[in-house]
Amino acid sequence: MNSDLEKIIKLQQIDTETDLLRDRIREIPLFIQQIEESIKLKNEEFKQRGEQFKTRKVELKSRDLELKSAEENITKKGGELYKVKTNEAYRALEKEIEDEKNKKEGLEETILLLMDAIDSGEKQLAEEKMAFEKEISEFENQKKILQDETREKEERVKKFEQEKASCVSGVNPQLLGKYERIRKSKYGLAVVPIIEEKICGGCQINLPQQKVNEVLSGKDIVLCEHCSRILYIQVKQESVSS
Ligand SMILES: [Zn+2]
Repeated sequence: MNSDLEKIIKLQQIDTETDLLRDRIREIPLFIQQIEESIKLKNEEFKQRGEQFKTRKVELKSRDLELKSAEENITKKGGELYKVKTNEAYRALEKEIEDEKNKKEGLEETILLLMDAIDSGEKQLAEEKMAFEKEISEFENQKKILQDETREKEERVKKFEQEKASCVSGVNPQLLGKYERIRKSKYGLAVVPIIEEKICGGCQINLPQQKVNEVLSGKDIVLCEHCSRILYIQVKQESVSS
């Protein structure tokens, strides 16, 4: 095989590996950011729900005061019953006491419902918060693992960059320029094998036999006429020497 072609194939392998590593390195902080955003939102939600309980407790306090005043009124008006002079005034006062008693009952019911709602709501919120804390700590562990992965992948990128530099040094600069141009315009893939002895591994289109023969002869660098990628014949793994 053309030795420049061999180097370009190697180069493509290095570049493809490096591209994959870089994609992952870019992806990790985005993923972390997404989770951190959702944690922030969830905490906001918890805070708002906590605020709602404060409002309901204020309401509970004012209902309690209303209840106390109704009770006081009942006692006070009960005492006045013995002081009234006419039957009419007596009945009117009795009616007032009855109204206060009804009000008191209504308030007691409201207060019980409110207390129940606050109790069960706070309990549920506390449970949800606890479960969420667990999720956060799991995420923190995952984050550490991902950060380690990033560092490890960055190391590998560095190694590949060194490997690429040494691989590039011997390649014909014109071919190298061509390779980089194709890579740029073809989503990073500039060198592709011929599949099933006739299909371009880049665009999957059938190649004319003459094209395949040119590649087989190994004399020149041959491009696919459809996608302009550099073509090569894949050698079986065991026959790869050098
Ligand atoms: Zn093609």
